[in-house]
Amino acid sequence: MTTDVWGSVQDRLRNDLGADAFKNWIEPLVFEGLDAKVARFKAPTGFLGNWVSRNYSDKIQGLFAEHGADVARVEFATSVAKKAAPTKTPKMAEPVAQSRATGSPDLPGAPLDARFTFDAFVVGKPNELAHAAARRVAEGGPVTFNPLFLYGGVGLGKTHLMHAIAWEARRRNPDARVLYLSAEQFMYRFVQALRFKDTMSFKELFRSVDILMVDDVQFIAGKDSTQDEFFHTFNALVDQNKQIIISADRAPGEIDGLEERIKSRLQWGLVVDLHPTDYELRLGILQTKSEAQAKHYPEVSIASGVLEFLAHRISTNVRVLEGALTRLYAFASLVGREVTLDVAQECLADVLRATDRKVTIDEIIRKVADHYNIRMTDILSPRRARAVARPRQVGMFLAKTLTSKSLPEIGRRFGGRDHTTVIHAVKKIEELRSVDSQIAEDVELLRRMLEA
Ligand code: ADP
Ligand code: MG
Repeated sequence: MTTDVWGSVQDRLRNDLGADAFKNWIEPLVFEGLDAKVARFKAPTGFLGNWVSRNYSDKIQGLFAEHGADVARVEFATSVAKKAAPTKTPKMAEPVAQSRATGSPDLPGAPLDARFTFDAFVVGKPNELAHAAARRVAEGGPVTFNPLFLYGGVGLGKTHLMHAIAWEARRRNPDARVLYLSAEQFMYRFVQALRFKDTMSFKELFRSVDILMVDDVQFIAGKDSTQDEFFHTFNALVDQNKQIIISADRAPGEIDGLEERIKSRLQWGLVVDLHPTDYELRLGILQTKSEAQAKHYPEVSIASGVLEFLAHRISTNVRVLEGALTRLYAFASLVGREVTLDVAQECLADVLRATDRKVTIDEIIRKVADHYNIRMTDILSPRRARAVARPRQVGMFLAKTLTSKSLPEIGRRFGGRDHTTVIHAVKKIEELRSVDSQIAEDVELLRRMLEA
């Protein structure tokens, strides 16, 4: 009999709260029965139970009364086994076991990439602060900086870090309601809500999460009503001490078309940037990803120096770097050859051309001469004294790694030398770089100057 009452109460709730809110909050509940004036429910998560209890128990109680059932209290217990609750929400699987999952099963977030975990994130100087902040936020505990604002250029790991936070937060607390989505999706949902005159449930949904992550927030610049809604959502969550994580391609103050009040609010928390990668970080990333690839392609071997070469030559975007590595492995596996520097250059010719920074050999010779305090003509001369021969070798090495000129061409430009001399120079500097920190520093400094 009471189950029928619950049916009628549900109808009223659906009507009064709107379809979305009903679906998000009421539908997942299982009515257990009415006993000594206590209406008992099972909720799939503690959070959902708490939320409904806080926001809707009076309403539910009132509706029971309207249908002639005397209810003094509404109680929500968490269902231990998910199976017991015939809800439509997907199972709460272990995040790592799933290839794709959203931040929380019953939230309309974007899928999380299973590869984007903290474990898979390589930390170096350029991203160590962002990484530390992300870790801290993922650990939960008292909210110390809100929002966490991550910014940086394309492919530097913003999305990776955000997904890693979501995975880690869920691992630590499976009940946490984590909502990750792009600013574009945020806008889309908002526009939909406006269209279907359902902004109430939109607001409720967004204000009911424990962690809200909005990726690429620069997207809402200039979109006034979306910005407005974002601002209100943002404030509501900050007031409730809920963690917010935002990413953008530049600092809050530099996003044109973003309202001043939003800019300043975004700066209240911790603003950290992901700096462009440096050589060490790129090499670290390549080594890590190469180990992962090697599991798929055990037959492929990569000659020493190839990863270093890629780390030198592809210096902007980690995504491009990864793509290059994937292509190399696939190529090597197909043709069954060891990946040497030549194979890499051939296989990645288009990528290398695109990232060619148009460093010229003249420039290299000039910078090397400056750096070692010798004359350009010394470099081009036949002199073999160490004081000029070593800088010359550094120059040839830089020419090989920073330009797409062929070995004979490089030899010619360095005072009409043979291509075997260039090969020797490249080998020599490669070797020296790992044992002689002065040479390593010289090379890195020159490379930076030439790339700047
Ligand atoms: P963004 O969102 O900043 O444009 P992404 O997070 O999408 O960049 O990163 C692009 C790609 O580079 C992803 O595949 C990501 O895993 C990888 N990546 C970026 N930084 C790192 C890093 N430090 N360690 C490992 N992988 C990284
Ligand atoms: Mg991104």
